[in-house]
Amino acid sequence: MTNPQEEWPQTPCPSGYIGTRPKNARDKAWRYAYEAPNPNDIGKVICIPCERIISGGINRLKYHLAGIKKHNSNPCLKVTDEEKRFIHALLATAEEKKLNRERAKLAMRAAIAESEGAPFDMQEEEEALENIPGKKFVF
Ligand SMILES: [Zn+2]
Repeated sequence: MTNPQEEWPQTPCPSGYIGTRPKNARDKAWRYAYEAPNPNDIGKVICIPCERIISGGINRLKYHLAGIKKHNSNPCLKVTDEEKRFIHALLATAEEKKLNRERAKLAMRAAIAESEGAPFDMQEEEEALENIPGKKFVF
């Protein structure tokens, strides 16, 4: 068993600060974040490229790094294109998983409707799926 902490690069912030990550950190976005150093900032993270404290945790950090205005996040001004691409890929994967879960639910509902002889407009339902928020991350 490897210690997950050791898998994360200990990249210093611009000031040279190197922080810690939660013991159970799984989200790949932790590559670009440390836990906020101040004990009053529990649950907040520090963005490694710009050293901003991001409230709302690792998920909000992703929007900050990706430059996506969601949950009131301010875009990171120091993130490199490569880092941005990494985060965009993370978000796209998460959205794809979500979409697959929705598709599986849809197939289930269609099967139930069929067994009950109830009308089910698969095409309409699929179109609704295409409009679920977040689809924009797939590029
Ligand atoms: Zn930042």
